[in-house]
Amino acid sequence: MYDYLIVGAGLFGAVFAQCAKEDGKSVLVIEKRNHIAGNVYTENVNGINVHKYGAHIFHTNDKEVWEYVNRFAEFNDYINSPIANYKGELYNLPFNMNTFHQMWGVNTAEEAQAKIEQSRREAVLGFINRNGSAAGLSDDISDFVPQNLEQQAISLVGPDIYEKLIKGYTEKQWGRPCSELPAFIIKRLPVRFTYDNNYFNAVYQGIPIGGYTRMVEKMLEGVEVRLGVDYLAEKDMYDRLADTVVYTGPIDAYFDYKLGPLEYRSVRFETEILDTEDYQGNAVINYTDSETPWTRIIEHKWFEFGKNENGNPISQTIISKEFSNEWNVGDEPYYPVNDDKNHKLYQRYRELAGNENKELSELAVKCRRVIFGGRLGEYKYYDMDQVIAAALRCYYSN
Ligand code: FAD
Ligand code: UDP
Repeated sequence: MYDYLIVGAGLFGAVFAQCAKEDGKSVLVIEKRNHIAGNVYTENVNGINVHKYGAHIFHTNDKEVWEYVNRFAEFNDYINSPIANYKGELYNLPFNMNTFHQMWGVNTAEEAQAKIEQSRREAVLGFINRNGSAAGLSDDISDFVPQNLEQQAISLVGPDIYEKLIKGYTEKQWGRPCSELPAFIIKRLPVRFTYDNNYFNAVYQGIPIGGYTRMVEKMLEGVEVRLGVDYLAEKDMYDRLADTVVYTGPIDAYFDYKLGPLEYRSVRFETEILDTEDYQGNAVINYTDSETPWTRIIEHKWFEFGKNENGNPISQTIISKEFSNEWNVGDEPYYPVNDDKNHKLYQRYRELAGNENKELSELAVKCRRVIFGGRLGEYKYYDMDQVIAAALRCYYSN
């Protein structure tokens, strides 16, 4: 009998397993895929660490998490500075003085703020007055509260940037009009009135030297891991093996979708090895128009400055185009769609999860409880550092 059966060898599962092992507990990790590391999996191809499930840049303000990951990997000093390509026009991201200069030719923060204020005012008045009002048209925007992503974006950076850098990208990524998406999605992006292309407002940032897979391998050192095992296909048998199950797969799949499936966005990657040293000169280029079918192109070698582990330049390059898709049961789930409808459904699954623990504790032959964790278990748009913090908290509060 193990103390813990951990379902999923992604970051949540690996961190939980690492803590339990260090604490002297017995642990079995099972993983459906034929590799560890979940979505942060990197595979070394011709000296380049390829981010197989999409670009992953580690960034955090949490010192404890930073110190924790540094026990398992040394990080390089990569700073993410993506470029937006709108029909051949190039803009720096996140929205900062470089972007405003490229968009409007302004040079100072004052000029940029005036430009945004003027165009945003008109657009916001349009939102306020669209449905008319008994009291007549308003010209006061001070109390305006954005109701969706479109309104949030326009009131933050004005309609020019919204039209060229946000609308097309967001609608491709989420498969829904911006006017039907929650405002919080865009709040993740910083807006700065300085010349600073660092995409993240984070104290610590970088890429683990040697790739994420090696980092997770180190976390799982000494832990028994079985790959290619689908827990849900043999649930009863696996439940009998441990006191506690830590389940990091999709919560709705655990309950066989009995309340209906939660919605996700899925991503398809087209990866090519090219016989050229440099394809686009940057790790990430976003295609922000609505006609280009992919959302972005990743050129993996630039996460490690174009060099292999021995510090030598690499003569080839590897690129991945990312296509965002609607998700269907059986596809890889990537992004939870955290809108109201899905949030309510998730809450109902949480209630089932609570009952599950009551039921399980009455069945002595089975495990005593199930912990649902991670991006899929908690149906949360977690960054890596948040998932690590959640796993550490979860282990030490149990
Ligand atoms: P996962 O990595 O999904 O791990 C869950 C594991 O459980 C998987 O390996 C799965 O195969 C396994 N599993 C599921 N069901 C079963 C089953 N029935 N039986 C056995 N095993 C099962 N975060 C950042 O901080 N920076 C970034 O730049 C960044 N970029 C991202 C880009 C993309 C395209 C995506 C989708 C996410 C990105 N993230 C980023 C978020 C990051 O990927 C997640 O926070 C993190 O990987 C979540 O870890 P997890 O363990 O919760 O989930
Ligand atoms: N976004 C955008 N244009 C861009 C990049 C991002 O409009 O060029 C929006 C988009 O809605 C996205 C959100 O900002 O979902 C958050 O972007 P981030 O890069 O954090 O997304 P991630 O892929 O990391 O989840």
